[in-house]
Amino acid sequence: MQGSQRSYPSTAYASDGCLWWQLKFKPGSKQPFGDEQKLAAWLAFNCELGDTITMRQLRVALGEEDRPNAAEHLNRRLRVLRQRDGWEIPSARDDGSLGHDEYRLDAKGWHPGSGKPRPKLETPSDSIRRQVFERDGRTCVVCGIAAGECYDDRPERRARVTLGHRVPGKRLHRGASVDELQTECARCNETVRDELPNPITLPEILPRIRKLPRADKRTLLNWLHAGERARSNLDLLYADIRRLSATEQIGMIDDLEKGAG
Ligand SMILES: [Zn+2]
Repeated sequence: MQGSQRSYPSTAYASDGCLWWQLKFKPGSKQPFGDEQKLAAWLAFNCELGDTITMRQLRVALGEEDRPNAAEHLNRRLRVLRQRDGWEIPSARDDGSLGHDEYRLDAKGWHPGSGKPRPKLETPSDSIRRQVFERDGRTCVVCGIAAGECYDDRPERRARVTLGHRVPGKRLHRGASVDELQTECARCNETVRDELPNPITLPEILPRIRKLPRADKRTLLNWLHAGERARSNLDLLYADIRRLSATEQIGMIDDLEKGAG
């Protein structure tokens, strides 16, 4: 494992002589050098197959001097290495013998010192993407926010929708079918399903369910059976209106005010 004074082969260094995982910018560019590539390089040159690594270790390795790397979603970056770059890095989720926050290096994949171009990200086609977004009314199936709407707790942040796999943690791939995919806002896609434990507990929800009028209970049951929230005409119309340009939306609101007044 890592020793601070160890020597590395020349491939561990970028063209400017800096170790890949300490690089701030892409060689010859002002763009930041991404954590995924730093992780890959650090793992490639500091770990042996079978080593167990903790997230804390990775944060220290990718940090600066005494400041660990505090990037959110660093574990998601590891997942990209698994999905895109051919790394096998099981976590406690894949292998019960690993502790919480532990990862084991089973196979090395692409890294920036390998001298090969990085594998292309395989994503579903634009046509599949469009069909999924249209089916879901451009609305996140996890939290219900529509593209362009603001989050209740972060009014300055507008939701952007992206494609997610129905099965958390499963990779998006070129051949994925519309049925395997769902619309998620970037926030739910990044955090809720993969990293944060669900903070809601059944005892918190039960009284709210019991208080519902019978018709609402039936609707809720239908959604749960269907595995998704069916949208009313009004919901769909609302989602479509949100896709109009700002000027068109203002015109729309004027029209509605005349009609509803
Ligand atoms: Zn969401």
